[in-house]
Amino acid sequence: MKTSYIAIDYICNQKCRFCPCSKEQSRYPSISLEELKTLVSGFIERSHIEELVVSGGEPTLHPDFISFLEYATDKGLNVTVLSNGENFYNRHFVEKLASCVDTSKIMVTTTIHSQIKEQHEWVNQIRGSFDRSIRGLLNLMEQGIKVTIKHCINKQNRTDLKKFYEFIDCTFPEEADIQLCSIDYCGLTEDEKKDQMVSFPEIKPYMEEMFDTYIANLEKGSKRHLYCINMPLCAADPYYWEFFAFKSGNYSNYAAPVEAGEKIQADDDVKPITGTFCDECRECIVEEICPGTYRTAFDYYGGQIVRKYTE
Ligand code: SF4
Repeated sequence: MKTSYIAIDYICNQKCRFCPCSKEQSRYPSISLEELKTLVSGFIERSHIEELVVSGGEPTLHPDFISFLEYATDKGLNVTVLSNGENFYNRHFVEKLASCVDTSKIMVTTTIHSQIKEQHEWVNQIRGSFDRSIRGLLNLMEQGIKVTIKHCINKQNRTDLKKFYEFIDCTFPEEADIQLCSIDYCGLTEDEKKDQMVSFPEIKPYMEEMFDTYIANLEKGSKRHLYCINMPLCAADPYYWEFFAFKSGNYSNYAAPVEAGEKIQADDDVKPITGTFCDECRECIVEEICPGTYRTAFDYYGGQIVRKYTE
């Protein structure tokens, strides 16, 4: 399925330590509704996209967020919203969204950093956000909107994957998917990077412990969908690879705000930000199917974060 990506603004109500958006970007103006409509109709015309990923910043803070989703879904697009989920705590906002937009065509993906409130809020630096995001996602589900809980594996949460899965399994109806993802380090300072390296062979036992619990629940009848994206295949034994997304295509188009006075940055030739970018990978026998991880991880830590398969 062909997909375009639009960051509609860079304003945000959280301050995530791993956020790829810089402080400067938060001052860039939002893209206006008219400009968004023009971008989307261009993507449809040129690239015949069927899916749109709407991001930010925090996209729900855009003044025309609901109107834009209404426009995109009316054009027949499936829309994935990447949101921290806090604004969906407001039931009136969720009810307005559900009344304006075809709810079967939207999905909201929200990152929960940990099953422990304090650890989640250590990452986004906003007190109370854990409870608000969880309530917000439940509000969406009550309106029939598909929800995906994203979990980016970092140095702090890497040993707790089974506990995280169990927490989400207890907290959300099984229609909520769980998506595990590696981390993009571009929001970190040089000092922070030294302490934050996650090596994929190191997290392998914790990944497999979580998958074993998940598989046991599937065998008991659970219908929950759990899967990994941007996760190297050296993060788990091949037995578990059915839960991994393999190497896939890139976004067809990309658009984002740029500084005041400039044009919107819109690109139909998007450079991959994830892949298998090191010598260890080039010698690995599964490199052709492996999705790898973020380029920033290889830039900072090189091949020490992965381990090649040789047979
Ligand atoms: S290609 Fe690279 S990231 Fe993928 S399994 Fe092999 S060593 Fe790991």
